[in-house]
Amino acid sequence: MSPIDRVPLLDLTRIDAAHAADIEAAALRVLRSGRFILGPEVDECERAMAAYTEARHALGVTSGSDALILALMALDIGPGDEVICPSFTFFATGGAIWRVGARPVFADIDPATFNLDVADVERRIGPRTKAILPVHLFGQCADMDPLLELARASGIPVVEDAAQAIGARYRGRSAGTMGVIGCFSFFPTKNLGACGDAGLVTTDDDALAKRLLALRVHGGERRYYHDEVGGNFRIDALQAAILAVKLPLLDAATEARQRNAAMYHELFRGSGVAATADESDRAPLAIPVAREERHIWNQYTLRVRNGRRDDLRAHLADRGVASEVYYPVPLHLQRCFSSLGGRVGDLPETELAVAEVLSLPIFPELTDDEIRFVAEHVLAFFG
Ligand SMILES: *Cc1c(COP(=O)(O)O)cnc(C)c1O
Repeated sequence: MSPIDRVPLLDLTRIDAAHAADIEAAALRVLRSGRFILGPEVDECERAMAAYTEARHALGVTSGSDALILALMALDIGPGDEVICPSFTFFATGGAIWRVGARPVFADIDPATFNLDVADVERRIGPRTKAILPVHLFGQCADMDPLLELARASGIPVVEDAAQAIGARYRGRSAGTMGVIGCFSFFPTKNLGACGDAGLVTTDDDALAKRLLALRVHGGERRYYHDEVGGNFRIDALQAAILAVKLPLLDAATEARQRNAAMYHELFRGSGVAATADESDRAPLAIPVAREERHIWNQYTLRVRNGRRDDLRAHLADRGVASEVYYPVPLHLQRCFSSLGGRVGDLPETELAVAEVLSLPIFPELTDDEIRFVAEHVLAFFG
């Protein structure tokens, strides 16, 4: 084997020939069928997705961002309403709330898991709060039991942003089935990626499913008769057919990610430099904590302490190791949300996280040698 000289963050071309042939055959089948909008490929994909996510209903949509918008629309959330979500997340979480005309209210995170701090959510509930929107960040479920209890006591629905968490589990339940609606993304970098944009909404509620179905096609259950204004939120049949081929491969890919994470864990723990984020807040390097039942490792995210994150990132780049900062700017400090009045210092744990986080390559097809190469260069930085 040739010596390793670079490791990418993600390589979507590393797919074995048999699986590539199956995906190509599915795509070709759709191209030749002439059925591009909804139809049997979408039905079949939705049945498989409902079974996999353990939801009663699963609807394919255009993207994870649109899944969130559609979910909020189905709950009649709009102008004058507030929705509580994390600030430490991908932009779409807050963007969806804004897009339906509601006000995102940002809550802080638990520093060990990067997920919502339930006590901080509680402080932010007010008379206008119409939903809580937790994100299962990096592939690990938010601490849902206390959050669901708080929501129940306050009479507020929970919508899950499970874009990074398909197949993640929390105390016997599957990500996306704990709130009233679950939202998933099949963006190519997610654990289950389409060959383009696609997403999914799930629910166990029959009435909500009917509403989501109508809103997905401009708000009319009957074509050309519109009871309300929806949108075009349909998944492409082409993407649905490809996803139906890739879904049965997901668990093996997730297990490969879990093995990769375990290997990093061993290498970093053995070094004396690193501790898990809940063991010590002084170790120069904090490695991620897998606290909930099934972490699917969409990202493997370090904390680099003492202001050295950007130097480590540059050190790695110089040695051919790709890494990424998810996310450099928290939502409460994004310029587009400046009218909400967010200030530096509002969310201390979120602001510390954006300064410390660095995600390493974790994709399933990484080789053991590549993982060793990455870990060695990380550890070399700390001397
Ligand atoms: C990827 C992602 C989305 C949006 O999904 P798209 O399919 O890219 O629109 C929403 N929320 C989170 C947390 C994500 O990671």
